[in-house]
Amino acid sequence: MSDNLEIPRTNAKVSDPTRERSLNFLEKIYLPEIFRGMWYTLKQMFQPKFTMKYPEERFDPPPIFRGRPVLVEDDGQERCVACGLCARACPPLAISMQASEDSDDPKERYPDFFEINMLRCIYCGYCEEVCPEEAIVMSKDYDLVFEAREEAVYDKSKLLVSKEELKERLEYLREYKNRQFGQFWNFNEENNIHSVRNRDKRWETSLSLVEMIEEQRKQGKQPELDRD
Ligand code: SF4
Ligand code: SF4
Repeated sequence: MSDNLEIPRTNAKVSDPTRERSLNFLEKIYLPEIFRGMWYTLKQMFQPKFTMKYPEERFDPPPIFRGRPVLVEDDGQERCVACGLCARACPPLAISMQASEDSDDPKERYPDFFEINMLRCIYCGYCEEVCPEEAIVMSKDYDLVFEAREEAVYDKSKLLVSKEELKERLEYLREYKNRQFGQFWNFNEENNIHSVRNRDKRWETSLSLVEMIEEQRKQGKQPELDRD
């Protein structure tokens, strides 16, 4: 055991008592300091109040706020194409999904199930950052209540929120991402129709992705990339 634990140290005491300043009478009785503290408290009572009577009064966060992640519902359908990027990017592995295909749907892929474990989620927003479809975004929802661990696993029925309700966040994201990436990030709703065949009638399976983009650019369907 170290000396420090065996012998209590008297840190609070000055080793040389002659260096201590002696208190005057008012300092010794503490009353002036008590009244000064009470005066400060009294002044604060008349300042504008910033506290809210939650839950009667609810805080409406600005669009930059990161509440629980939700899936964007577009025309009664999830935008998600079950690419799995969000699950890969999620640091606490809170997202799980299973992709499925529907050849009658122009989007072709959709998540058969999509779950987020809200006990794991740390509201980092990485899922939103990586999603190429603007299909998962951070909402304004901040008060989550569960009575059992199973209830914290949100499935599609709890995750899907219409794009109209998420309008503010979607607009914020477009401005934010456009500013950050310039023309490289130019989200268009038509990109949600994920089939290249639907966007390009002259699609040929023999073309590489680069050739396909060149072909679309010639047809005026792709913006010119800044190569500088
Ligand atoms: S906000 Fe972060 S922790 Fe939560 S689901 Fe998205 S990536 Fe995972
Ligand atoms: S939410 Fe976005 S990133 Fe996640 S699987 Fe769906 S499309 Fe991919």
